[in-house]
Amino acid sequence: QKAEILVIGGGYGGATAAKYLRLFSNNTAKVTLIEPNASFVSCPLSNLVVGGSRTLAELTSPYDNLSKRHGIKIIQDSVSSMDPDKKTVKLASGKTLRYDKVIVSPGITLMMNSIEGLAQANKDGVTLQAWKAGAETVALHNQLAAMRDGGTFALSIPEAPYRCPPGPYERACQVANYLKKNKPKSKVLILDANQDVTSKGGLFKKVWAEQYTGMIEYLPKHNVTAVDAKTKTIKLEVQDDIKADVLNLLPAMSAGEIAVKTGLANSNGRWVNVNFLNFESTAQKDIHVLGDSIQIAPAMPKSGHMANQHAKVAAAAIVAELSGWEVNPAPVLTNTCYSFVNEREVVHVASVHQYNAAEKTFKTVPGSGGLSPAPSTLEGVYAWGWAHNIWADSLG
Ligand code: FAD
Repeated sequence: QKAEILVIGGGYGGATAAKYLRLFSNNTAKVTLIEPNASFVSCPLSNLVVGGSRTLAELTSPYDNLSKRHGIKIIQDSVSSMDPDKKTVKLASGKTLRYDKVIVSPGITLMMNSIEGLAQANKDGVTLQAWKAGAETVALHNQLAAMRDGGTFALSIPEAPYRCPPGPYERACQVANYLKKNKPKSKVLILDANQDVTSKGGLFKKVWAEQYTGMIEYLPKHNVTAVDAKTKTIKLEVQDDIKADVLNLLPAMSAGEIAVKTGLANSNGRWVNVNFLNFESTAQKDIHVLGDSIQIAPAMPKSGHMANQHAKVAAAAIVAELSGWEVNPAPVLTNTCYSFVNEREVVHVASVHQYNAAEKTFKTVPGSGGLSPAPSTLEGVYAWGWAHNIWADSLG
């Protein structure tokens, strides 16, 4: 009887893994993908929707090809619990499914309790994060559009690691780009818990100084601890309180809820340690974890590009194991993160990570990768090319 392979989560990691399990097994593996959303909505490029220059529809892809073209069974549901001993997962609808291997790629959990009052402020409709693309992304744009000219858009960043290191700085650019055209007396305030800009720092700071002069204020070492929804006041660990009109507060993040709840987050209770040769959890056999949920190797970002790469390593290892093939993998992963600094100009950072057998981790290949010299519209074309290629690779 064929091994049952379940994939939990149809995002950058899970969708890619499901497809590549089929491709690497010559379409013989039995693969079921469980995902609550009817279609895939990309976080990459979603800051352009916040800034109002693009629509969510442009970032949305159907799941149809995975079922029709690749023979993957798709269940539109979410996994409410997992039993690693019985090797079963329970769906929100009540059904229980058995597995021989399961891939878990549930993204992140926003740790709302890390900022006092944030959960309530979200409930009251005062704050939102838009750190998972979808209705919130549009809602944040609507808050920006409704803000008075002369208002302050505050964006807070938790201590790294968090999903997408350059993402908040790209968002600041997109918000400022909108304000420059529509509400020029307004301001973007970046409250960063980190010591400095965590990705492409020189490039972002130059753009802020040259394209958004006086509009973006960057405050490092500003750790947000609480929010008062009624008065729209942000409280900081050290500095005085700050008031703002739009409060886009990003709390600390951890592995996706299902991974945490199943006891897989064995790195500080937040991230999942994996064996980097097959992305199997070090906490449970036959559970492979991908993407943002894992404790990353040094210098590896939590990105969609990386999740796509994790997926291919895991799929290859699982197919090899189930087929009884003798393999000696030495994976090499690449990453590119593009950031739009306005509607058309883009900067990128790229890196190559090679598995180091002695240290059992990925190491950045010396001299690999690089950084844009300056923003350009040509890179804007590359960025859209990157997006369409990775969507086709994961979902096409
Ligand atoms: P996701 O892609 O989030 O997928 C998780 C999936 O799991 C979701 O579809 C969810 O519905 C599903 N799920 C969760 N729990 C369950 C459950 N219990 N049962 C079933 N399904 C479940 N990355 C880049 O490479 N380049 C970029 O330019 C870039 N820009 C970004 C900009 C922003 C504003 C943001 C927020 C992120 C950006 N990222 C970028 C990061 C990228 O989005 C993430 O790193 C990537 O989505 C991680 O993939 P994942 O598979 O771990 O999670």
